Amino acid sequence: MALGVDTVGRKLLWSIALPGLLAALLGMGYFWREAQLAARDATHDEAMELAEFIGTTFRLPTPEGLPPHTPVAELLRSESQLLRATTELNVLSPDGRIRWSVRSEEAGTRHPDTERLTAPGPQWARSDAHETEVLRPLGEKSCESCHPGAQTRPVGLLHLRVIEPEVHRELTDALGGALVAVLVLGSMLIVATGMSLHFFLTSPLKRLTAAMRRAEEGDFLVRAEVRGTDEISRLAAAFNAMLARLTSMKAEEIDTHRDLQVTKWKLSLKEELEERIAELALLFDVAKSVNSTIELSELLSRISQLVPERLHIPHFSIMLVNTDGLLEIKSTFPENAELEGMTFRFGEGACGRAAETQRVVYVPDINDTSSIFARRALMSGHATGALLCIPMVHTDSVLGVLNFQRPEVASFAPEELELLTAVADQAATAVKNAMLHAEAVRLTMTDPLTGVPNRRHLFSRLELEVARSQRFGTPLSILMVDIDHFKRLNDAAGHRAGDESLRKVCDVLRSRVRKVDTLARYGGEEFMLVLSNVSKEDAYEVAEKLRRAVVEAPQLASPTQPTGHITVSIGVATYPNDATTQDTLVDCADAALYASKRGGRNLVTSYSPGMELHPGRERGISRPNDPSSPSLAKA
Ligand code: GH3
Ligand code: MG
Ligand code: MG
Repeated sequence: MALGVDTVGRKLLWSIALPGLLAALLGMGYFWREAQLAARDATHDEAMELAEFIGTTFRLPTPEGLPPHTPVAELLRSESQLLRATTELNVLSPDGRIRWSVRSEEAGTRHPDTERLTAPGPQWARSDAHETEVLRPLGEKSCESCHPGAQTRPVGLLHLRVIEPEVHRELTDALGGALVAVLVLGSMLIVATGMSLHFFLTSPLKRLTAAMRRAEEGDFLVRAEVRGTDEISRLAAAFNAMLARLTSMKAEEIDTHRDLQVTKWKLSLKEELEERIAELALLFDVAKSVNSTIELSELLSRISQLVPERLHIPHFSIMLVNTDGLLEIKSTFPENAELEGMTFRFGEGACGRAAETQRVVYVPDINDTSSIFARRALMSGHATGALLCIPMVHTDSVLGVLNFQRPEVASFAPEELELLTAVADQAATAVKNAMLHAEAVRLTMTDPLTGVPNRRHLFSRLELEVARSQRFGTPLSILMVDIDHFKRLNDAAGHRAGDESLRKVCDVLRSRVRKVDTLARYGGEEFMLVLSNVSKEDAYEVAEKLRRAVVEAPQLASPTQPTGHITVSIGVATYPNDATTQDTLVDCADAALYASKRGGRNLVTSYSPGMELHPGRERGISRPNDPSSPSLAKA
């Protein structure tokens, strides 16, 4: 709005011009009033003097034959400006009747304002805007000639009305002119002041404000215009100096910010490196630990210890693919016998999916999934939190799955997934090595033709069983089994058929023995059965059962044999009845076997003292309780 007060210039203009105008108008009013009063007083004086003068003219002698006071009327018709201004001139009697009037026709009538004019009081003069009215008593000593008693009682009241005197009109005109002049001058003053304020105050302030706004918006290179040395210019110069300082501060801030960014980057790099180093150290520890053993069971228990200790994961389990192709829980932390041995199919639950897809399966919240693993975990009391299943893969084949579990939901970070995958890879390699080792051990201890333990395994087992029997004082029996006339079978049917028959005999024997007993291939067509905690009599019974089983096995019928069927001869020896050392015990069984052979074959013979040794044996059999026996002495 043009006349608004949104600028300092306009505010100043209004604050200067309005009071000035008001003061001028008030001054004018005061002057006008004073002039009015002065004019009225002057008019009163003039009117009173005129009344005085007219009063004296009543004493002029009236020519003979004319109405009284005719000279007064004549005088009033003269050229005198003041007398011509007299519009009404009456002499009123005290009761208001017009005794004499300049207009002779009104003589004898009552004046319309009788009551106002005849009210008792001193002589007076009153004025309004255009005329002045005077009332004064009339009657002196000189009136006595015509009006007897005039001296004691006034003849009447002189009533005079004169129109506004010239001085009053001139004064009014002059005042009107002065008012217009004041208004014009005031307007000019307002315009001049407004322009001055605009050029010297508002405009520079606007430019300064614009510069400040641009600076506020971030343009620190803007500068305010500096003209002259007045306050606004000094303000603009100070603002420019402040901006210059701000610009340099901003530049410093940018430099500092850049330095800070670089430092932060270095710090994050350092932290990342430290994390990587910690991860590598952890991986190194894991690798060192898992590679320090080749035994699979030992390896699994070490991994189960490492995970909670170094990775801070409170629940953990290892699954391996068993011989049935199922994922079987082999080890858990904390140890949980209920869970160990539990199996999952490939594709079943989170662990099954990990094995099937050979990819990591992360379940941030077990309660959100319907996986069977979760339900089983529920049974084990760890049904809440996050579950991470990482397959152990070696050369594209799944060896098993590592399951990590935390009670907090979504508690595995992406970086942790990478680390645990690396741990699983390490574990996979170690597990594979342990499996290969176990297989190698198994092969070295197993007879390749029959699949039963070989001679090496047999003797280590026998040594163990003899030691146990010695410690606990329990009996230990061994059975030496030899196929009768096997050479004939080989010679007649060939060695491959001989091998097949050897396997069949082994299967028959194996199917008839307890799991705790050890059946091993002793040599060519000879087997040995180790029966722990079995007495001599019972051992004989077992041997007899085995012999019969072979004779009765239909698959062992053979035309090459003298009886038309494969048969076995068995020798039985028992610790401590027959011998107290491993070697002598075997010799005793051998002697008993030889006795069976000599007895006609397809026989079982228990060793008895004095029994003839096998012809191949050179050293004698130690007798229990025989102090001369070297074996006993050694034992
Ligand atoms: P007996 O024991 O009744 O006195 O007669 P035998 O013919 O069984 O005894 P001998 O010791 O003379 O022959 C053992 C034969 O067993 C010799 C060998 O040809 C055969 N033999 C040993 N080991 C194997 C083997 O692994 N496979 C085959 N096919 N034959 C074997
Ligand atoms: Mg033999
Ligand atoms: Mg034989």
